[in-house]
Amino acid sequence: MANRDEDARLDALYKLNLLDTSPSESFDRITRMASQIFDLPISAVSLTDRDRQWFKSRVGVEHMSIPRENAPCSRVAETADTVLITDLLADDRYRDSILAEQGVRFYAGVPLVTREGFGLGALCVLGTEPRTASTAEMAALKDLAQMVMSQIELQHAFGRVDPLSGLPNRTQFLDDLDDLGRDDPGRRRLAVIVDLARAEQLNSGFRVMGSSYVDDMVQEATRTLRAILGSDHMAYHVAATQFAFVGPDGVDEVAYIVRLEAMLVQLRAASHVRFVMSPTIGVAPFVTGATSSHDVLRTAHNAALDARASETAVGFYSPSKDGAHRRRFRLLNDFGMALDRPEQLRLVFQPRIDLATGTCVGAEALLRWSHPLLGEVSPGEFMPIVEQTSLARPTTAWVLEAGLDQLGRWCAARLHIPLSINVSAANLDEADFAQRVQLYLIKHRVPPALLELEVTESAVMGNSVRAIGQLQAVELAGIRIAIDDFGTGYSSLAYLQKLPAQVVKIDQSFVRDLAKGDREQSLVRSMISLSHDLGYRVVAEGVETAEAAALLIEMGCDEGQGYFFARPMEVTDFEQWIRGPGMQAVAG
Ligand code: C2E
Ligand code: MG
Ligand code: MG
Repeated sequence: MANRDEDARLDALYKLNLLDTSPSESFDRITRMASQIFDLPISAVSLTDRDRQWFKSRVGVEHMSIPRENAPCSRVAETADTVLITDLLADDRYRDSILAEQGVRFYAGVPLVTREGFGLGALCVLGTEPRTASTAEMAALKDLAQMVMSQIELQHAFGRVDPLSGLPNRTQFLDDLDDLGRDDPGRRRLAVIVDLARAEQLNSGFRVMGSSYVDDMVQEATRTLRAILGSDHMAYHVAATQFAFVGPDGVDEVAYIVRLEAMLVQLRAASHVRFVMSPTIGVAPFVTGATSSHDVLRTAHNAALDARASETAVGFYSPSKDGAHRRRFRLLNDFGMALDRPEQLRLVFQPRIDLATGTCVGAEALLRWSHPLLGEVSPGEFMPIVEQTSLARPTTAWVLEAGLDQLGRWCAARLHIPLSINVSAANLDEADFAQRVQLYLIKHRVPPALLELEVTESAVMGNSVRAIGQLQAVELAGIRIAIDDFGTGYSSLAYLQKLPAQVVKIDQSFVRDLAKGDREQSLVRSMISLSHDLGYRVVAEGVETAEAAALLIEMGCDEGQGYFFARPMEVTDFEQWIRGPGMQAVAG
């Protein structure tokens, strides 16, 4: 065969990414059938590589490959024609071949030919006695070879190869992991994910240079990875800018991680878009056949994300971090459903106390979630998760509806108690937020002066122009605004001055330490006096002790909220509490 033809043939073979993949049941089924039809012990799907015959599937053969030289399958591939040898010892060409040495006498091989006419190898049957083959047997072998080719084409065409990199894709990775689990179960291996760049880097690169730079980056990375991994390691293209592979069997894990770090350096060095590329690697150990292939991919992906978050080059999978992520994911999923289940969500109410008179001058509505399986989940845990998603809006809508419904009932019962409701940053982005709040007030017949909205400094910082616009509209409608968790954000009082707020709630972290010492006290004292100078009413959150309450009174703080006065209460308890001795001032 001319060299050029042979190169083209090899190219066609390599593109299929079949060599050195794990055995697969879809091929083994065909080989078993061939061996049964001929009633012979040996059968194989044998692919002709540059200098070896490699077996994708084999019955009765121990080795994964044999040298190509003098192998009858090689002739089948080269000529793309059937080869039938009734007795190897009687054939000059094969009398001294390795097969004959191993006791093989009979050989029948039918070519595996691509649509373009390239012979990839052979479907062959072998026997240890000389024999002939009937026309029917040979016809069956040809049919089976056709089935092998259909299987190869199917695997290749059926969305298993990424058109950009030419590498097998995620589907193939998962299938190959399954095959590995069947073929060589119970072994600890390492799954590796190479993630080329952060999403923001890709986006800004895309903006400046268009989509082709991502393509270039992926193609460069593919070439480098292929060169680094060599032919005994298959790289997979598992997501737009992510590759995966399985580390070698029995590798020293620590030494291997050092090698992976070196790989990152090479990947970067080889790229002409180095400035947008910041590759990281995630490594996850798994046990073949025991860890599901989806979990292998997921855990390796997790490790890559953790590596990115902690800015380490190579991240090793951490079950505890994974547990936390999974809980977050579950809470988010389940919270979406909870919004439609009235029995899971409710509001509790915590009084706000006028420090000068000791009377209750309002209450804060706080959301509570009873998860059907996890029990009570704190809003301190689920709200930060919810607030990062589109669920923030329906959540505030739920709280506003429930809170104003309650206020409406209290008004009807002549209990005129102002209620504070927490709103999220995302709400201030809604163009009709202020309008919707007013509609709720009308619907539940609540005067605007009884409603206060609590927003955090950071909520306003995110999108200040639009947020301030909404807050101004809220203020104009006669609704009060409080700045929640004051002191924990990054903003300055000078900035806050621009906000249309009337109340500042000093965060509990400052109040908690109040009795500790002079520094803590002077911090709170100056927060109070600055806020007063700017015209705010000041509320201290998290007042837990009489000592803290006394200090706050002495500092001139207007209101206190905290366990010392009352914990957040269920609605009926709150109603009883507020009608109890000493609280009559607000009722009636
Ligand atoms: P927040 O708005 O600052 O609410 C005050 C939190 O401090 C509440 O926690 C309250 O139970 C707690 N607290 C009150 N007094 C004391 C005290 O003396 N000591 C201590 N250690 N804690 C005290 P909770 O109810 O767990 O809520 C946590 C956070 O979750 C809230 O902080 C708020 O940011 C958010 N959240 C709660 N309900 C809602 C809601 O309906 N909508 C929104 N957007 N966020 C909410
Ligand atoms: Mg609050
Ligand atoms: Mg707060």
